[in-house]
Amino acid sequence: MVLAQLGGSISRALQQMSNATVIDEKVLNECLNEITRALLQADVQFKLVRDMQTNIKKIVNLEDLAAGHNKRKIIQQAVFNELCKMLDAGKPSFTPKKGKPSVVMFVGLQGSGKTTTCTKYAYYHQKKGWKPALVCADTFRAGAFDQLKQNATKAKIPFYGSYMESDPVKIAVDGVERFKKENCDLIIVDTSGRHKQEAALFEEMRQVSEATKPDLVIFVMDSSIGQAAFDQAQAFKQSVAVGAVIVTKMDGHAKGGGALSAVAATKSPVIFIGTGEHMDEFEVFDVKPFVSRLLGMGDWSGFMDKIHEVVPMDQQPELLQKLSEGNFTLRIMYEQFQNILKMGPISQVFSMLPGFSAELMPKGREKESQAKIKRYMTMMDSMTNEELDSSNPKIMNESRIMRIARGSGRQVREVMEMLEEYKRLAKIWSKMKGLKFPKKGDMSALSRNMNAQQMGGMGGLQSLMKQMGSAKDMMGMFGGGN
Ligand code: GDP
Ligand code: MG
Repeated sequence: MVLAQLGGSISRALQQMSNATVIDEKVLNECLNEITRALLQADVQFKLVRDMQTNIKKIVNLEDLAAGHNKRKIIQQAVFNELCKMLDAGKPSFTPKKGKPSVVMFVGLQGSGKTTTCTKYAYYHQKKGWKPALVCADTFRAGAFDQLKQNATKAKIPFYGSYMESDPVKIAVDGVERFKKENCDLIIVDTSGRHKQEAALFEEMRQVSEATKPDLVIFVMDSSIGQAAFDQAQAFKQSVAVGAVIVTKMDGHAKGGGALSAVAATKSPVIFIGTGEHMDEFEVFDVKPFVSRLLGMGDWSGFMDKIHEVVPMDQQPELLQKLSEGNFTLRIMYEQFQNILKMGPISQVFSMLPGFSAELMPKGREKESQAKIKRYMTMMDSMTNEELDSSNPKIMNESRIMRIARGSGRQVREVMEMLEEYKRLAKIWSKMKGLKFPKKGDMSALSRNMNAQQMGGMGGLQSLMKQMGSAKDMMGMFGGGN
């Protein structure tokens, strides 16, 4: 996602600030200016950026912060909170309930991604056990019904439309009625768009809405318009009761951040974002996790650089591959532990986490954490290949646990603790599933060597955490933090 650039710039700015020996006015200003620049580049409205800067300065009044305060942390927290505020519409969207029939109408300009998004939305819910259905009430665009039909067929979702009928209201009403009878619980009405906001479009929208009485109207918007999203979202809101927004094409434009913040400024909640043309390139949008990830995934190119620096080229691909498949096994955990120990002081590993360097791993705790990792590894040395390579924690039954404890001279309780740690990490790492690694260049070169080499351990843990921004989880793991 292009947003990674934005996140990367912001986390780099925070990192730089964090690395400074003394945090004074100058360091703070440099950090804020860097963040400002990144936000403006993502086309965030100037006023929003300025307000953010003012707020942070108010919160982080350096003179008022007594010596004991952790300025780095306060600044990081303030930046995080302000970013959240910038993207938060301040109110939740109506959410349809599974099993209870709801009508959801999609509106938006032509080409914004309505039809694609309708299918993604239906598909997303279908996978969660809903019974969605699609109604094509777009009689304006030639081929609209064919397009919806094709998408729906691919996703095996029932659809309704007509080649003959030219009245979108009639089609919408008929379709909704039919799927209500068929007990569908999510009836999605796709409407027509226009090239620009026109009275005729808004009129048609109103009529379809009046006739089908949707429980939720979703406005679909192309993120490439950046902060102009504000006016567009306002205009639609004034004509129809927009309950939620889906911002599309977040994969292709540097202006995504601007679009998201502009929509939030109209007080319309964004519920999903579209990140590609495919059915599953669709993500729930939730402000806090989004911002954590944005900052956490941060410096992707920096991460790749780091890999190249520490690990020979031909040993890199398999780990990345496994992670993107979401198969986090005990063996991977073992290898990551090995890497951590190899890489030197744990505090250094942590310093690669944007914004969470020294505090995470207080000096005195390093030895403790290192010992813990070694203890875990000894226990894993007593495990069989089958156990190490399984990603199903259920195979670890009582007798296996007892055997491992005996074999490593540890207590059952400790083995269980290690397995708990594994489960917790596996859960975090599962977020890596589906993560897209750079397609061109690096990765293709990497994959060519994939089978040629054994699994080469690589210091992936630090980068992972970077991507996930789950500093809290990691603090728990190594008993660090404050
Ligand atoms: P509609 O006119 O509003 O119904 O828009 P469509 O659903 O027909 O989409 C217009 C174009 O945008 C199509 O080529 C889609 O494949 C593309 N599109 C939709 N959503 C996304 C997205 O999230 N990312 C990318 N890259 N393309 C998208
Ligand atoms: Mg369409």
